[in-house]
Amino acid sequence: MEQFEKLGLCEHVLKVISNKKFTKPSEIQEKTIPLILEGKDVVAGSATGSGKTLAFGSGMIKNVEKGKGIQGLILTPTRELAEQVAEALREFAYYKDLEVVPVYGGVSISHQQKKLVYADIVVATPGRLLDHLKQRMVDLSKVDYLVLDEADRMWDMGFKFDVSKIVDACPKNRQTLLFSATISGDLADFADRHMKAPIEIAVENYVDTSKLKQIYYDVRDGEKFSLLVHLLKQKHDGLAMVFCNTRRNADFVEKNLRLNKVSARAIHGGMDQKKRIRVLKEFSEGMAGVVCCTDVAARGLDIKGVSHVYNYDLPKDAKDYVHRIGRTARAGESGLAVNIVASRDYDNFSNVLRRNEGLEVKRTETPRFERVRIEMLEDTRGSRFGGRSSGRGRPSSGGRGPMRSRGPRNDRSPNVGSRGRASSGGQRSVRRDRGSSDGRRPARGSKDGFRGGGRNTRNRVARR
Ligand code: AMP
Repeated sequence: MEQFEKLGLCEHVLKVISNKKFTKPSEIQEKTIPLILEGKDVVAGSATGSGKTLAFGSGMIKNVEKGKGIQGLILTPTRELAEQVAEALREFAYYKDLEVVPVYGGVSISHQQKKLVYADIVVATPGRLLDHLKQRMVDLSKVDYLVLDEADRMWDMGFKFDVSKIVDACPKNRQTLLFSATISGDLADFADRHMKAPIEIAVENYVDTSKLKQIYYDVRDGEKFSLLVHLLKQKHDGLAMVFCNTRRNADFVEKNLRLNKVSARAIHGGMDQKKRIRVLKEFSEGMAGVVCCTDVAARGLDIKGVSHVYNYDLPKDAKDYVHRIGRTARAGESGLAVNIVASRDYDNFSNVLRRNEGLEVKRTETPRFERVRIEMLEDTRGSRFGGRSSGRGRPSSGGRGPMRSRGPRNDRSPNVGSRGRASSGGQRSVRRDRGSSDGRRPARGSKDGFRGGGRNTRNRVARR
């Protein structure tokens, strides 16, 4: 506790920390809280699970007064993150009884408007907050604390202009905090324009590599799903997250895991908010051992007890890889990240390793596994398809639309975009032999492991 007291946190928060039995501040807390409490603008490199919510919440919980209008505003890229941050702030502000209101799209706007009247702190996604602003149903003129959480993701999702409009609606003499995994030139420009002499804080380790093991299996495209089933049926200590690049693949994998008697749920942006919250709850409570998700849906979620992260599809964006593996090996627990790599993933895998310095991913011998049956998904026009198939060495006919299925068939990797078009990976010919050198292997590959480019073993916040 002494270490928390030294940071200058208020007694309300210290009581909660004591109840929660936190032993010491996280790196981001240690480095940012004193500055935040001094009233400085801060740009902080931070990842999910780093303890950033307490960091950016420390100032507002100390100084916000109940019933005096919206004094704290946090912008987040996704609804789930808005819910999660709001919940965490409510907990940290428990002894001050502050009204923390989450605001996001996909739910009734009038219900939110009623709650906004009493809000002390608002946690919002930019689009819906702008809707409230346009309808003059929210007053941001009393905002003292403005936080941009996961700012890089907000920019990636195209919220830059919405965020700027919201910032313009806040008073100039506020404190602004920007939390982001990476600081691009665009974000740096934003900081220049909207922040007062911001202090940049980099956290050295996003991923605790001593606790997190990363491996990959190199398989044929048509074997990916069967191997996934095999691995998931092995004993797991905790929960498993299976990452897919599209909503459709997440649905496909969920459906077929269930068909193969693996208790799985899908979560992605195509599901309504109530369903997403229900799935998350079921997963967090251990009612489903596996969740199949897309990056956007999973971004920022704090789910405890995830022991395994599977990349069923390797992400296109190298940053997403770091976010994905950061779901496990948290709070001192160990974790395993498993990449199921086939020829269609080689480009993405190479990119991930090239752009993430120091990642060490060991090649692991593929165990013997049974090929399992899969079923295709119905598309919206009533036909059934499951994406591009591997064809075991035959060139695919991909790119011309969904493959029609004649019913259940052997494992064929899904690779279909959300509207049923074959995705780019499916448009290539598929290698016949595993491990053959056909020029598609990740550039830095070696026999027993891929290593991210560069000498440094840490992922750093990109600086200007
Ligand atoms: P966050 O990055 O804010 O989403 O926090 C991730 C998780 O870490 C949450 O469940 C927090 O309650 C927890 N947490 C935050 N700070 C600490 C700390 N100093 N020690 C242990 N757990 C923490």
